Amino acid sequence: MSPTTYDEMVSGFRWRIPERYNIAVDVCDRWAAADPDRTAILDVSPAGRVEAWSFAALREASNRFANALRAHGILAGDRVAVLLPQSPAVVVAHLAIYKLGAVALPLAVVFGPEGLLHRLSDAGARAVVTHAGGVAKLGPLRDAVPGLDLVVSTDGAGDGALGYADLLAAASPDLIPVDTLADDPALMIYTSGTTGPPKGALHSHRVLLGHLPGFAMMHDFMPKAGDRMWTPADWAWAGGLLNALLPSLHHGVAVVARKAEKFEPEEAFRLMADLSVANAFVPPTALRMLRTVTDPRRRFDLRALRTLASAGEMLGPETFHWARTALDLTINEAYGQTECNLVLASCSGLGLARAGSTGRPVPGHRVAVIRPDGCPAAPDETGQIAVARPDPVMFLRYWNDPDATERKFLGDWMTTGDQGRMDGDGYVHFVGRDDDVITSSGYRIGPGEIEDCLLRHPAVALAAAVGKPDPVRTEIVKAFVVLRPGYGPSDALAAEIQAFVRTRLSAHEYPREIAFRPSLPLTTTGKIIRRVLRDEA
Ligand code: ATP
Ligand code: MG
Repeated sequence: MSPTTYDEMVSGFRWRIPERYNIAVDVCDRWAAADPDRTAILDVSPAGRVEAWSFAALREASNRFANALRAHGILAGDRVAVLLPQSPAVVVAHLAIYKLGAVALPLAVVFGPEGLLHRLSDAGARAVVTHAGGVAKLGPLRDAVPGLDLVVSTDGAGDGALGYADLLAAASPDLIPVDTLADDPALMIYTSGTTGPPKGALHSHRVLLGHLPGFAMMHDFMPKAGDRMWTPADWAWAGGLLNALLPSLHHGVAVVARKAEKFEPEEAFRLMADLSVANAFVPPTALRMLRTVTDPRRRFDLRALRTLASAGEMLGPETFHWARTALDLTINEAYGQTECNLVLASCSGLGLARAGSTGRPVPGHRVAVIRPDGCPAAPDETGQIAVARPDPVMFLRYWNDPDATERKFLGDWMTTGDQGRMDGDGYVHFVGRDDDVITSSGYRIGPGEIEDCLLRHPAVALAAAVGKPDPVRTEIVKAFVVLRPGYGPSDALAAEIQAFVRTRLSAHEYPREIAFRPSLPLTTTGKIIRRVLRDEA
């Protein structure tokens, strides 16, 4: 039974983390035994053909692939990279890696050679599971990654790669998964690299259990048999993998896999309508693109869509209100980071979703806004968002970087590098990353509030606000704006947008400079890289 209030949820909460736990056994083999024909993955081809994969099929394929990897020398603890777009093979590879007690290293397909080389060599990857595009990118890099002995391609053998299908066909379908401890390393995810070089955050199997309470909140305690989950986020990102794919499978909810080169808002609506998607996890940048589609409910049958969750960047009231009007849905915003994900969440089903708030501490996690000395801040006082250890969702350590791991903690608080405030009702409001907070005329301004206001102007599709050094005011606010189709840059429009913000926010917050751009620099996870814009300001 689901709780009816936040207090009930908190008081009734207790972690149940077994000593031995394996993600693959939990999300796949358990269902394959209990309900073998249940659909796990709906694989959508670029032409729109849909193929259903059952839990039994996933178990067999992952057993085979684990046996094949083992036969090629992959042992417990080895890092095995997965460089593939959303597809059943990604799931099979992850499951096989967990079953061997090895460490999955998800890599986004959009990474260029430098991004790949950095992560593969830093991680000391021993194998890569990829497709023809990945094999081509890896070719010139292989010599630079000592120990990378095995490349497997889903597009068949060649160019130094073994064929994925050949390996599956030749391997036994029988396997006894390694009986891992919940604390054994299972996966390593690199941070998005928004503020600097990406860091490898090593997680153990329990990380999935740590996500479940937040996942329940994000989807109003509603995932149930027959539901379908979809996220446009790459499953290589903590958000895609741990907020969508793996917890859905844990609940026996089918996940839609779609290989898309880029996010197309009309296509996204069409997919959700055609496949009767019930639960969606859509990060803010993608939601802002959906917002440019007029009248979506008239054009697409979205009646199946019951829960819509978002995380990874600030959502902001404008996009929150848009979803209520245009989709008749309340977006459940959550917050976390690769190192310690999904620790704040909203839950509209329990009346716990407020425009402009990233949500409340998820039961089981102790989250606070703290002062530099580690003491909790007063209500509404801005400080550092922090999470107390131990916490099952928390990373084990940064890979190869004990100093960075050490610096991440202030006593038992894991600091996030994010500024926020908790209001008197216990809702957390994100202010900005430490480096993104703008200091102007003695005020500390979060860029999100300005960006949200800019979005309310009819000409604005996307916006980013940064601080530009100024001799008098320390910094002034400079805004980078992408216009909606039909609008062209002009001084008059810049002045109009400035006036628009000035009448809505206080005078020190309005952008004294506006630059129009055809696009903004985004991480592979769709986040605005404000540090690049700061350098240009
Ligand atoms: P890096 O650490 O390499 O600079 P990153 O912090 O962007 O990159 P992630 O771990 O993918 O890498 O992102 C986590 C960060 O995303 C959080 O620390 C926070 O700054 C931001 N974030 C996540 N959820 C939200 C949210 N709901 N509102 C605002 N910001 C959010
Ligand atoms: Mg970070």
